[in-house]
Amino acid sequence: MILHKITEVREKIKEWKKEGLTIGLIPTMGALHAGHKSLIDKSVEKCDRTVVSVFVNPIQFCPGEDLDKYPRTLDKDNELCEQSNVDIVFAPTPKEMYGEGHILSNDFLTYVIPPYFYVNKLCGKSRVGHFDGVCTVVNKLFNIVQPDFAFFGEKDAQQLIIIKKMVKDLNIPIEIIPCPIVREPSGLALSSRNKYLKEEQKEYAVALSKILFNIKSCYKKGITDTNALLETAYTYLTPNHNLEYLEFCDENTLEGKSTADDNTRVFIAVKIGDVRLIDNILLK
Ligand code: AMP
Repeated sequence: MILHKITEVREKIKEWKKEGLTIGLIPTMGALHAGHKSLIDKSVEKCDRTVVSVFVNPIQFCPGEDLDKYPRTLDKDNELCEQSNVDIVFAPTPKEMYGEGHILSNDFLTYVIPPYFYVNKLCGKSRVGHFDGVCTVVNKLFNIVQPDFAFFGEKDAQQLIIIKKMVKDLNIPIEIIPCPIVREPSGLALSSRNKYLKEEQKEYAVALSKILFNIKSCYKKGITDTNALLETAYTYLTPNHNLEYLEFCDENTLEGKSTADDNTRVFIAVKIGDVRLIDNILLK
């Protein structure tokens, strides 16, 4: 069932709560693929009812990013959700979520701002304000759906860590369930933005996972100096790869690491042409 209005969702949630049913939420921006489906399947298995939100959230895009061209495939998304036994697809308009007017400005909208230490690195460095937009919309979705469990992919590990921190700091009574990255057989992590890649660019895109897998294998062989591990990446990079970052951070606190250990997550972002791709791996 597709619902576009917050009041319609609230009514349904009220019914379910009255019946004592547990609710799982999967926040997405749509253009659903097997990565999203893995989160959906986990929720359907664990919870009595599952809600998938499909919302290309304008306030998490920075000026000049791909807000307008982000793929929007609601009919197909709904089909996938129906086949996967999702109970509600919540697909609001920006106006439904933020009302009319100056929605992009924090002069007019209450924002949830995650701590600077968590956003002044990795994607937060180049995407200024991105995680403010993410935390604000996720908070709104939490308040609308009031789930018992919310499912997030490790594909966006910085986002997952920041959401966990928000839930802890704001005492939000929701359990966050992390879900592993789903990859193509080539190793490329599934992403709605992979649709932007031309065939030859897809071949370059495989470098991200190759770099990460190789770093993990070097770590397993005993190399723990992160500078030495970083060096190994250059074999895979060509002039077609514009490396934005390759960093070693603590899995829970995002603190930078100079010596790798089992709690180290390696994060990479590369631009291939206009397409910005991210990936990560836990060394454990
Ligand atoms: P998005 O629609 O890109 O905002 O993603 C919605 C959710 O799906 C986020 O929690 C993502 O981390 C997760 N997700 C996206 N791609 C993957 C993937 N390849 N594997 C696992 N989870 C994913």
